[in-house]
Parts: sequence; C-alpha cells; structure tokens
Amino acid sequence: MTDFKKMAVPGVQKLNPYIPGKPISELERELGVENIIKLASNENPLGPSPKAMKAIKSEMDELALYPDGNGFALKKALAKKHGIEMDCITLGNGSNDVLVLLAEAFLTPSHNAIYSQYSFAVYPIAIQAVGAVHQMIDATSWEAEMPLGCDLPAMKDAINDSTRLIFIANPNNPTGSFIGEEQLYQFIQQVPKDVIVVLDEAYLEYAPEDQRVDGSLWLNEFKNLVITRTFSKAYGLAGFRVGYALSNPDIANIINRIRQPFNVNSLALAAAEAAINDDEFLMKSMQVNATGMAMLEAQCKALNLRYVPSKGNFLLVDFGQDAMPIYQKMLELGVITRPVANYGLPDCLRITIGSESEMQRMVAVMEQVCG
Ligand SMILES: *Cc1c(COP(=O)(O)O)cnc(C)c1O
Repeated sequence: MTDFKKMAVPGVQKLNPYIPGKPISELERELGVENIIKLASNENPLGPSPKAMKAIKSEMDELALYPDGNGFALKKALAKKHGIEMDCITLGNGSNDVLVLLAEAFLTPSHNAIYSQYSFAVYPIAIQAVGAVHQMIDATSWEAEMPLGCDLPAMKDAINDSTRLIFIANPNNPTGSFIGEEQLYQFIQQVPKDVIVVLDEAYLEYAPEDQRVDGSLWLNEFKNLVITRTFSKAYGLAGFRVGYALSNPDIANIINRIRQPFNVNSLALAAAEAAINDDEFLMKSMQVNATGMAMLEAQCKALNLRYVPSKGNFLLVDFGQDAMPIYQKMLELGVITRPVANYGLPDCLRITIGSESEMQRMVAVMEQVCG
C-alpha cells in the first residue's frame, strides 16, 4: 500500500494538526445533550454587528460575481481607521491566512522562526508546513509578574543569523497574558532589522482603552514590524473568515504576491467594512466581556482555582488536576470549554467569556463540577 505520509514534505509529516473547539452540533450528536453553550473558541456572544448583517444582506444579490480581489472598499475603510496608506494592508481569509502567508513568503528549511511556549497553535503549524525550524522559547512561570507569558529576553537571545520571523500574540491565546507597551517597544527596538516581528493583535480590542498596546502606531518606526488583526473576535465575524496585516508597503507587496487572488469572499468584505465603523457594537462587546470576566474570576477565587489574569475574552483556569475529566463532566452538563493539553497545559481549561446568562450557567456548572 502507498505510504502517503512518507510522500508528504518533511515538515508536514511531523505536524500536529490544529484541534478546534468542539462544535455544538457535534456534542449534540455525541451525547444527545440539549441547550448547549459553547465557550470554547473565543467567539463573540453578541453575534455579528447589526450593521454587518445589513451589509451582508444587500451583498447577497452579487454572489454570482467574484469578490473584489483587491478588497478596495474594505482597505479604504481600514486605511482611514488606522491612519495609514492602503498599500500597507494585506487582507486575509482570517488573520490565520496572513500568518501562513508570512511563513510561506519568508521561511525556508534553512531558516527559523521564534515563538513562545503556550502561544497560538497556528504559529508552529505555519512554520513547520514550509519546512522551517520552529524555535519555541519557554514561557514565564506561573509565579512571574506576567504568568505564562513571553520571556522576551530569552526570545531576543534566541535570535541568530537564520532567524527570519518572530511571532508574538498580545494579548496571547490561550493564556490571556499581556505584554506592556514599554517592554514590547524595547524588545522590537532590539530585534535586528532583517528579522520580521509579527505582532498578532487578535484580542487588542478587549483591553481597556487606556491599557491597549497598539503596535500599528510603530509601523513607521519599525520597517520590520507586521501587525495582524481579525474580525473574528470583538467584531463577531468568526464564521466569515476575515482578517488583515498592516506592514510597510514592501512587506505587503511580497505577501500579496502569494495571496490567493480572491482569498476574502464578497460577503466577508462587505460585513467587515460595515463592522469596522460600528463603535456601538464594539463598546457593547467590551461591556459584556468585562461583566462576564468578573463573574468567572469571582467564581475561580471562590473555588480557589488559579488563573492567568487575562486581557482577552477568555480565561485560562488551572484546575490543579487532570482537566480532561472536568471538561468531560462539563460537556455532559452542556457546556463546551477548551482543553489545552495539546499546548502542554493538561491541568487547565480555557474558558471563553459568554453573555451574562451563559456565564451564570458556566459558574453554576463549575460549582457542580468543582465545588
Ligand atoms: C483567534 C485568533 C486569531 C484569529 O484567527 P482568524 O483566522 O482571524 O479567525 C489569530 N491569532 C490568535 C492568537 C487568535 O487567538
């Protein structure tokens, strides 16, 4: 029999595939549970912005046509929002898409890319898929000022002549840990100019406005900086798959060369363009998140469970024992959370912040399972 695995390129042979959160329909099928809530994929409990919904409906009539491959209208709106030129923007089928494009464009088997332990699972996948060397740097400890976060000095020390990319998520997923502005700025300053720093800001919007670290403000200063953003989280459009990168035009030009010409579909383009200016929806998303986060943190404290202080829309909770049986019990009670054993955190679950009623249910389920 043909061994197709042996035929795959070496990096792919060794890949651990991404494990997504369990879909509601799957749990229904498996356990016959009803009334399920999913707090597993950091989705927005409010759904999409009403402005986005309206834009989608009016775009439906055009579905026979290819989307605008240049995404002109969305790029124009993004350029205005960020105060930058349109040629600094690369649109992606989710920001996942641009992360992969960066790896494809800049890495070879003789290059390496650096990322932190307990950071987004897509980084090692993107790096390995192109056969490059993935350099995982140990995260900080639970006792550190920023628990389970990037050890920036160690990441800097790991840079060598073969390093091309550094991936940093701020805030980070699955830990929620967060690097302060000064620390991050100083780190980027120390990175050689021929090493590209990819700052993944998928959760930027969730930090209180006066605490946000917006790396896009440094794009003029650092030509080797790439910022990625997404409409999947605070903007509530995860199902549509739309995100983008901001960079200097030279880098944007390179990643745009390998981008599929129609990587963002027409409905997603319209939805994102409408959502970007829906400040009211964004504010409401932040409020719901703050309320739910406070409820979950209070329950963790009451149950004596430690957690990583989070600036995202999720909380990494340490159950102090193998979390799989706890995950399973929660499933049986109709609540889907996210195991993170694949990240090397077998005692933890990542819990997404849902609506107030969803969090009431979550808190009650925690009481039942751990109380
Ligand atoms: C969710 C997430 C993304 C966004 O993924 P999309 O492809 O835009 O849906 C990117 N980075 C991190 C760290 C994430 O958690």
